[in-house]
Amino acid sequence: MFQSIRWLGQTREGKTLTSPVAKAKITVLSLGGTIASTKADVVSGGVTPQLTANDLISAVPKLLDVADVAAVEFRSVPSGDLTFTDIVALAKVIDRCFEEGTDGVVITQGTDTIEETSFALELLVRGSRPLIVTGAMRNPTMVSPDGPANLLASVLVAASPDAAGLGTLVVLNDEIHASRFVRKSHTSSLATFHSPSCGPLGWIIEGRVRVVLRVPPLATLDRSPVGDVPAIALIKISLGEDARVIEQIASLGYAGAVVEGFGGGHVPAAMVPGLETLASRMPVVLASRTGSGELLQRTYGFAGSEQDLLARGVLSAGPLDGLKARVLLSLTMSIDDEYVRAREVFERVVTSVTSSNH
Ligand code: ASP
Repeated sequence: MFQSIRWLGQTREGKTLTSPVAKAKITVLSLGGTIASTKADVVSGGVTPQLTANDLISAVPKLLDVADVAAVEFRSVPSGDLTFTDIVALAKVIDRCFEEGTDGVVITQGTDTIEETSFALELLVRGSRPLIVTGAMRNPTMVSPDGPANLLASVLVAASPDAAGLGTLVVLNDEIHASRFVRKSHTSSLATFHSPSCGPLGWIIEGRVRVVLRVPPLATLDRSPVGDVPAIALIKISLGEDARVIEQIASLGYAGAVVEGFGGGHVPAAMVPGLETLASRMPVVLASRTGSGELLQRTYGFAGSEQDLLARGVLSAGPLDGLKARVLLSLTMSIDDEYVRAREVFERVVTSVTSSNH
């Protein structure tokens, strides 16, 4: 599936066609999504993913002023159809691109799951060269599609030495976000990506890349997942809920669960016995359904409070939201399904989200 990279702007013999000045070598891998969607379905009139990485690059000739760009089509799907198996395979292809001399990688995909795929890639890809995930909110058949501008901005960031060592970055709408904090916040706005806990790490202005905040390096997983990534349930708690759903999780075959509780990390008291039983059988992680800020540790003392749940063996997602915590638990459990070791790795990574001392 993966052939050796050939840079656009070079002849087959490897001679540069465009400029004698050495430019960054950037590989663009396409996965589908809105950025690659055009009309095919005559019946519904709807768009579907069809354009390849080559098509996307050809639509933005300015890219070749910035970098020597290579195109690889990896998948062509709506991003909701991507799986952990796809992302583990993608991480291996990215590692290989870096081994073969790529200076930076840009992934184009649907925006619906960028929050998850970008964080998974940060956990899986080795090395510290720039890795960018981008997409588009307006498909190429619409007026003012944002895909070409997002692709150009992403290649600029991927070619920038300032983007190295920041983990996976999400670049859309001329903003640069850290994968650990970024969230999709709107169904259709071009400004849908936000990092509510800390804001963007930087931006792109007149073709210049500005990085004004840096995040500490994430602790790495001990090795790459082999085989299937186990199913982890994600449950959002709501007003007046009891433990009925929680009690079904083990019998449905899940290997772990992430619970998005109220506010600083709370659930109704009626849910506590069910959660405690579940946490004695599998890893159960508590995140906040607010989607930003860090989980509390030592403020409230009522039944179902953060202190109560943590004392009953529930793990804290710290500053990770439920989606990111689920990605992390899925990958740690796929590497080591032994609870104590998986817990250790999970907690090490959570600490590293905000601190270099891990
Ligand atoms: N449904 C699309 C996808 O995620 C939406 C998008 O790309 O923005 O593939």
